[in-house]
Amino acid sequence: MKFKDLGLSDQILEAIKSCGYETPTPIQEKAIPYIFMAKDIVGLAQTGTGKTAGFTLPMIDILDGGRAKARMPRSLILSPTRELAAQIAENFDTYGKNSKLTKALLIGGSSMENQIRKLERGVDVLIATPGRLIDLFERGNILLNDIKILVIDEADRMLDMGFIPDIEKICSLLPITRQTLLFSATMPAEIKRLTKKFLSNPKEIIITPSESTAETVEQFYIRTAPKTKNTMLEAIIKQEKVRNAFIFCNRKRDVDELSKWLKKRGHSAQAMHGDLAQSKRTETLDQFKNGEITLLVCSDVAARGIDVDDVSHVFNYDVPFNPDDYVHRIGRTGRAGLKGRAWMLITKQDDKYLEAIEQRIGKATFWTELSNDNGDSGDKSSKSNKDNKDNKGKTASKARKPAAKNPEKPKKNQEHKKRSSDHFESKKQDRDDVTGFGDETPAFFGR
Ligand code: AMP
Repeated sequence: MKFKDLGLSDQILEAIKSCGYETPTPIQEKAIPYIFMAKDIVGLAQTGTGKTAGFTLPMIDILDGGRAKARMPRSLILSPTRELAAQIAENFDTYGKNSKLTKALLIGGSSMENQIRKLERGVDVLIATPGRLIDLFERGNILLNDIKILVIDEADRMLDMGFIPDIEKICSLLPITRQTLLFSATMPAEIKRLTKKFLSNPKEIIITPSESTAETVEQFYIRTAPKTKNTMLEAIIKQEKVRNAFIFCNRKRDVDELSKWLKKRGHSAQAMHGDLAQSKRTETLDQFKNGEITLLVCSDVAARGIDVDDVSHVFNYDVPFNPDDYVHRIGRTGRAGLKGRAWMLITKQDDKYLEAIEQRIGKATFWTELSNDNGDSGDKSSKSNKDNKDNKGKTASKARKPAAKNPEKPKKNQEHKKRSSDHFESKKQDRDDVTGFGDETPAFFGR
């Protein structure tokens, strides 16, 4: 399918062309026609699938015909994090460069006065985090009765962050005759309940992991003792010829400490987590995006939705407690068809989390345990990656190379693997030249 078959306007097609996109991604192919038909949508898709463009592109066309009144935005996009909200706003700028739509970004940590001034002038697209939106609503700076399209992005992340009561409150303030698009990587019971309550006869779009970019990520894990995690991480960084990487820690304190340790040892590293001022978070992310910082040591605040082109590596310094977080973390690399590598350090205490991750990802072909033969292993009874179940509990393989990949052999659990007024009336590459790649066996452990 081609973009022009989706009914998008010439101005959008031109903007897509200048982005260099050739064909729609699966979620775009499936979602855009429904959005034009004014249907509600539940989109089950991970980040990296092109879902932001999936809703942004048709929204620009739909909204382009009308004009917003002061303090009465015409569409609302709710995002769990400030970074993701800012990124969605950037998408509107990129794809809407040929339109006259106005937008405002309402996020905490930024000047409220500027946001209020924009709202006063009237905005077509309002992109907000729930807390700031409610704050401004309660102060009387926003009226929500003209919202025609509501997007709830990363709904499961909203749940993790305790935003569901806010989302329910916001939904109850919106007109009933609106179009609602909800996107989530997973569908916990609480999100299902939300869709039943606030969406009307939604079309379900499921993008399976095999359609997402996750398959472009080679995944490795290595066992280590807690006290040798830093040196192990540094050794891997050195041997992997990392161009740029996210390094995820579970605790903010560890984010700060590890980033300091890396800086002391001459690495270009910076910390990012939710306790830092928004201005600092934005500055750090910008520096990482433009290559001034190589290693972004972060908490899960950076795990979802953050879109940095061409990230070569993701390191899980800590094993995430929630297997969905693992999927989101490694989704920062291997984006848009490029290759990426994800590494994870495992200590003995992490086994139950590792097991949950294996169940979640279906122990895919690229999930490779490497033996750590420098005596640091925190667990001598680790599992081999090969034939996962059978080898459970056996002594750790002393093989110095990653176990052979066998793409043919199915692995257990791997199956999971028009516009304007009309619209609302109806409602009522394999890239082998990536730095540091092209070498099948990580050298540090092999040769
Ligand atoms: P998202 O899942 O929305 O975070 O998008 C992931 C990345 O895919 C972003 O860098 C987009 O710019 C890119 N992208 C979106 N749509 C396409 C497409 N049709 N072809 C190639 N890249 C795309």
